[in-house]
Amino acid sequence: RPNRSSTMDQPVVPHVVFLPFPAQGHVKPMLMLAELLSQAGFEATFINSNHIQHRLEHSINIATMYRRFPKFQFRSVTDGLPSDHPRSSSSIVQLLISARDETRTEFRNLLVNLGQKNGRWEPPTCIIADGIMSFAIDIAEELTIPVITFRTFSACCTWTYFHLTKLIEQGEVPFQGPGDVDMDKTITCIPGLEGTLRCRDLPGICRLKEANDPLLQFFIKETAAMPRAYGVILNTFDGLEASMVSKLGSFFSKIYTLGPLQGLFDTFAKSPSARTSFNGLLWKEDRGCISWLDFHPSRSVIYVSFGSLVCLVRDQLLEFWHGLVNSGKPFLWVLRSDSILGEDGVSEVPLELKAATEERGCIVDWAPQEEVLAHPAIGGFLTHSGWNSTLESIFAGVPMICWPMFADQQVNSRCVSELWKIGFDMKDKCERAVIEKLVRDLMESDEIVKSTDEFARMARDSVKEGGSSYSNLQKLIEDIKSISL
Ligand code: UDP
Repeated sequence: RPNRSSTMDQPVVPHVVFLPFPAQGHVKPMLMLAELLSQAGFEATFINSNHIQHRLEHSINIATMYRRFPKFQFRSVTDGLPSDHPRSSSSIVQLLISARDETRTEFRNLLVNLGQKNGRWEPPTCIIADGIMSFAIDIAEELTIPVITFRTFSACCTWTYFHLTKLIEQGEVPFQGPGDVDMDKTITCIPGLEGTLRCRDLPGICRLKEANDPLLQFFIKETAAMPRAYGVILNTFDGLEASMVSKLGSFFSKIYTLGPLQGLFDTFAKSPSARTSFNGLLWKEDRGCISWLDFHPSRSVIYVSFGSLVCLVRDQLLEFWHGLVNSGKPFLWVLRSDSILGEDGVSEVPLELKAATEERGCIVDWAPQEEVLAHPAIGGFLTHSGWNSTLESIFAGVPMICWPMFADQQVNSRCVSELWKIGFDMKDKCERAVIEKLVRDLMESDEIVKSTDEFARMARDSVKEGGSSYSNLQKLIEDIKSISL
């Protein structure tokens, strides 16, 4: 690494290279972090996959972003998949493996190139890499560049992933489902979560046939590599997960809890225009739903979205649709055009459902989710429990009905219902009668609204000046400066 010792009149400007895993739920929080560090005066190179970069260029105004941050640049590398590959939830394993095997060389070459000082940019002084891209740690070690890992999961789920090997050794994992094991059996071998997690609440990757399944082994290896980094960044806040964060202290000497990242923009912005993030979304938002919400009374609408990857089969689509209509509540539903599996899609939907939807529903391809959740008309969120969605809902003070599908979602939904008591967990069920009842119960429960308001207050406090996430961001900035010398 080139010598970059500072002089009295020319302090070193850190140049941070960001490498997110190429999926919506990873790119968005990483880009928010990159924006916040750019506001602190750092140089930033943000490395997307070619596919993600192409999509991002259609949804955010890159020229405006470059104007706001003259020392910010995007670069892109291969994810190893052909350009017409769907990169959907059913092929996520392929993406995980190909990104691991194919991105490595181009990422290394790019770093070496960035290291040849070229006048305008300093050589990279720090890498912030996704917690499931440990090849970046290997390369950082080889090129002697300090590396920090950013795990886009909750602390609770990150802690659970550290116990995958123990779960296998104790015979709890893998399992295939209800016929195979008692899904309600309590899991006792994860300290701090003994009374909380049942078999059905373990991460989606535990639902497999073989312990040596490449997917399970992939996550075991990636998790084990994280502590080799200088520190770990988590998009959570201490008021929500202090005990799990302190447990993670046995693996990491530096833990930066910075959540909710979107909340830091308000307090940390150096100028009024920087108070909102560029919002690294891969779909064009349909803003018509905001005017639709404007016509509804306070806390009357249920918002429904299953994130960027979850797909529904036709039976599930119809159960949700009937359940929502039968609840009698107005609903705003994100149905991505690529989210319905099978041939009929939404075209062959019973007429009575269509009529009820015209009367009290609004369906969009992609919503401005954070703005939707902050809208006074929203009274509940039927979600797949992705971590970003969960945290955004907590920040907005909106209670949840959880319908998790894979990855960390099973753990998140259990925390929502059992630990934080800010929603209901509907996992492993998709029945219209259950959906109808839970929507009504959620929108009418004062108790849940009380605890949801309390966590929203704590989230806001954590990002205020002097709050835990605000202070941790300042600490991260100072630490990056010191390792950039
Ligand atoms: N999102 C959005 N509009 C939508 C649906 C989702 O802006 O209509 C955003 C949402 O705000 C969140 C992200 O997409 O930041 C989804 O991330 P999450 O971790 O919840 O789920 P994933 O897509 O990774 O499964």
